[in-house]
Amino acid sequence: MHVLRAVIFFCGGATLVVPAAAERMRLAWPTPNQAYARGEPIENYIQPTQSGRVESGLFGCVRNSGTRFHEALDLFPISRDRRGEALDEIFVVADGIVRHVSAKPGLSSYGRYVVVEHVDAQLPVTTLYAHLASIAPGIRKGTKVKMGDTLGIMGRSAGARALPKERSHLHFEIGLRLTDNFASWYRWRGFGSKNDHGVWNGMNLVGVDPLAFYDAFRAKKVDTFLDFWRALQPAVTVRIATTKTPDFLQRYPALRPAPMPLRGFAGWEVDFDRYGVPIEWRPLQQDALQGYARNEVRVVMFDSDAETTCKDLAKGRAGREVPGRDLQTNLQLLFGLRK
Ligand SMILES: [Zn+2]
Repeated sequence: MHVLRAVIFFCGGATLVVPAAAERMRLAWPTPNQAYARGEPIENYIQPTQSGRVESGLFGCVRNSGTRFHEALDLFPISRDRRGEALDEIFVVADGIVRHVSAKPGLSSYGRYVVVEHVDAQLPVTTLYAHLASIAPGIRKGTKVKMGDTLGIMGRSAGARALPKERSHLHFEIGLRLTDNFASWYRWRGFGSKNDHGVWNGMNLVGVDPLAFYDAFRAKKVDTFLDFWRALQPAVTVRIATTKTPDFLQRYPALRPAPMPLRGFAGWEVDFDRYGVPIEWRPLQQDALQGYARNEVRVVMFDSDAETTCKDLAKGRAGREVPGRDLQTNLQLLFGLRK
């Protein structure tokens, strides 16, 4: 996992230096509960929904009989005041910069929430901490934070109404943001309400399973966020005939391991995982896009074994699939497609 040399590509006269693989990152758990660190079962740290099923607090198609996606881990408190309100501090899991603080609980179903971008990582992922009771003093947009710094106190804020006391928890996400032009997509979709969160709206963030990441990190199968992304399994691959380079790739260049072709660049081949998270991007030349209209998207691989019960990534007959609703949304956000 540790490559200590820089790899140098020569690309159209410019020299592109890809940084050497990072050291094993420093990573904390976001709450004071030591149950995960001690290897205890999920019942000792995961907060279920009203259903009482512990799986409902995990990441995945775990809600409404598998039809509703939950993009996070829900973690319960280990200390409460006399009135039963949670007292647990919420810790930032790795070094980074606070990008968004939403202090008014009514503005989002996340309630009060904080987003941190881990800018020094090879893959600068974001972590999101929601349903907070309060934000720690000094935590505001632009604050530099170190692993383990306190972001706030666990709570139950959740938009117009709060969660019941007994279900106070931290909703914790790890993800990437799809576009920096979210405002344009949001207007186009016509939700009829104002977006108060800029690019840090949950609809612009695609998440991976935090527990799978912690498990892989603990088992030393991965040392960094980027290692984890590279180990994600492609469930669907699309080709798209556009020479546009999405801002996503400017933000996360490590997801395009191959150099850009010197000439004849004509489009992209992109792998997505089973929840629609972009994994690897490969530039294509014209010969791979014969017969494509401009901006046309085709599904070139769909692993039906990876199909979930809550995400619609591809539909149609085997070998002739087209993007499903959820993949279409991600492609709109990534490429600015408006169809
Ligand atoms: Zn949650």
